[in-house]
Amino acid sequence: MPNPPVRLGISACLTGSKVRYDGGHKHDRYLTDTLGRYVEFVPVCPEVECGLPVPREAMRLVGTPEAPRLVTTRTGKDLTPLMREWAAKRVEELSRENLSGFIFKSKSPSSGMSGVPVYTESGMPVNLGTGLFARAFMEANPLVPVEDEGRLHDVKLRENFIARVFAHARWRGFLENPSSGALVELHTRHKLLLLSHSAEIYREPGRLLWRAPGKRLRRSFSPHARRGFYVLIPKYC
Ligand code: SF4
Repeated sequence: MPNPPVRLGISACLTGSKVRYDGGHKHDRYLTDTLGRYVEFVPVCPEVECGLPVPREAMRLVGTPEAPRLVTTRTGKDLTPLMREWAAKRVEELSRENLSGFIFKSKSPSSGMSGVPVYTESGMPVNLGTGLFARAFMEANPLVPVEDEGRLHDVKLRENFIARVFAHARWRGFLENPSSGALVELHTRHKLLLLSHSAEIYREPGRLLWRAPGKRLRRSFSPHARRGFYVLIPKYC
């Protein structure tokens, strides 16, 4: 049976959609023309999908990096409640889209995953934070690989992201039809990838997996889950 397509969320303006505040886009040809040959994109534009028009007033983050507000730059309109309410619903919808990654537009107060300028009330950029939608998505999906398009221009970061995405997609495939044999196969298939990060991370599940064939499985995350790659540990009951 063919593998299901690898699905990635993506900030819609990166695909060439003219959804930016000024009516333009930020088309990234590498993403659509190269990576796009191997994955299926699910475009999301938080500002348009929450009901704002194109074109629209520019906005920025104001306040603290931990809990910034989304405020329009000229009229000072606070869009935080609108964006938060929409983001909660959209994140819930996206949980049914089988995403194995998300590529965010850098520096956006809605979509930026890190390094977004946070301003004081008087308009001084004094901190760096996370866009409101990106934050909601990452909090709800801590194990889904995420990256911003700016960082993907770095070859090493790009390779790391793609490896995590495809590993995540294979794990998703495993979860659809889990068995101890499939778990052993998954672990074997990722042997070199795991070893390239840490021999211990490779050995830890391996010690449990050698007994796995024919046993029942129960899900449990490795403590290494946040370190770039994660594994499923079998438990015997
Ligand atoms: S950065 Fe995000 S909110 Fe802004 S236009 Fe692109 S997709 Fe829409």
